[in-house]
Amino acid sequence: MTEELGVALIGTGFMGKAHALAYAQVRPVFGDVPRPRLEILCDVPQDAADRYADQFGFARATDDWRAAVTDPAVDVVSITTPNKFHKEMVCAAAEAGKHIWCEKPLATTLADAETMAEAVKAAGVASMVGYNYLKNPTFMHMKRLVDEGAIGRPIHFRGIVDEDYCADEASPWSWRSLIAEAGLGTLGDLGCHLVSMAHALMGPIETLVSDIETVYPTRPKPGTGEPGPVENEDIASALVRFRSGVPGVLMTSRAAWGAKNRISLEVHGTRGALMFDQERLNELRLYRAGDPATAGFTTILAGPAHPPYGAFVPAPGHQLGFTEMKVVEAAAFLRAAAGGVAEGPDIGEALGIERVIYGIAAVCGHN
Ligand code: NAD
Repeated sequence: MTEELGVALIGTGFMGKAHALAYAQVRPVFGDVPRPRLEILCDVPQDAADRYADQFGFARATDDWRAAVTDPAVDVVSITTPNKFHKEMVCAAAEAGKHIWCEKPLATTLADAETMAEAVKAAGVASMVGYNYLKNPTFMHMKRLVDEGAIGRPIHFRGIVDEDYCADEASPWSWRSLIAEAGLGTLGDLGCHLVSMAHALMGPIETLVSDIETVYPTRPKPGTGEPGPVENEDIASALVRFRSGVPGVLMTSRAAWGAKNRISLEVHGTRGALMFDQERLNELRLYRAGDPATAGFTTILAGPAHPPYGAFVPAPGHQLGFTEMKVVEAAAFLRAAAGGVAEGPDIGEALGIERVIYGIAAVCGHN
């Protein structure tokens, strides 16, 4: 296995820091991954890049992302910029022969996402897209139980992903409301995570009918308070059929008061049910049909019996968090970049997720 991989990180916001934390922790947690060598950090303006290179431990800093992705000392590139930059950055990194870890959603249009998938395939580089919730040991255990038939044959999937950052009419306008900057609304920000988890548990979604809604057509611009247009959806719902024939329901809202990171999943089977909520990410609820006098939901607390939890903590119930899922994702990415097993989701698989969210929006004549 390659011993070291040179890293370029583009962006230092919410996800930029999450990638930086993951690179810092991935070798101490997992001994069997190549050592990430923190070569070059890119942000704008240059003084921000300098400051974060020092804070995150990168050797060099630049405000020119093209220089970062073509740097000869760089093997892998993390792309954590807003959605509108992803296509150009991914295509340039692929052309330069770099392995790519890109945040979701892939792009601001489905056509751009397709172009990205083609570029990565043509270049033959490894890729990973930031569907971090798939890397939660509790979620992986849920998938294992479904696959092993612990609840019998799956007969119904129900999934919700909600946040409340747009619930308040007075919440400020941002680039996330513009199609040219963000692409889809709640579907691109939150709904794609739900689709990634639905696909992992149930297989691909084949058909759907849907509905979408924008709650407030404008929001106040920060500073001036002038109305800024909201061009994309706040709420989306879909009735789906998986390729297996099993029906499902998906709902997403960025205007759901009280929800902070609610990813609520239910798989109902012929012999039981499984329930998970990301706001309680170390807990899984399992019901197995049996003696009515004793049957009831069991709460399973995450522990070393649910790999790779034990790589972080040797004792059950001590709990993992959001940033630790990014460490698991980094490990999978670095192993794939070094030529090992590519467990994904890579950009090709992420394109399948993108097709579903654009399908939900398109049915309503949106985008
Ligand atoms: P952010 O605004 O916090 O950070 C964006 C960063 O990109 C900033 O550091 C900004 O300075 C930098 N940037 C902007 N233009 C640049 C340029 N031209 N060159 C170099 N750097 C530039 O945004 P965020 O919340 O981190 O979101 C970034 C991406 O991550 C989005 O695609 C978003 O959908 C995704 N995201 C994923 C998750 C997840 O759970 N996987 C969570 C949040 C955001």
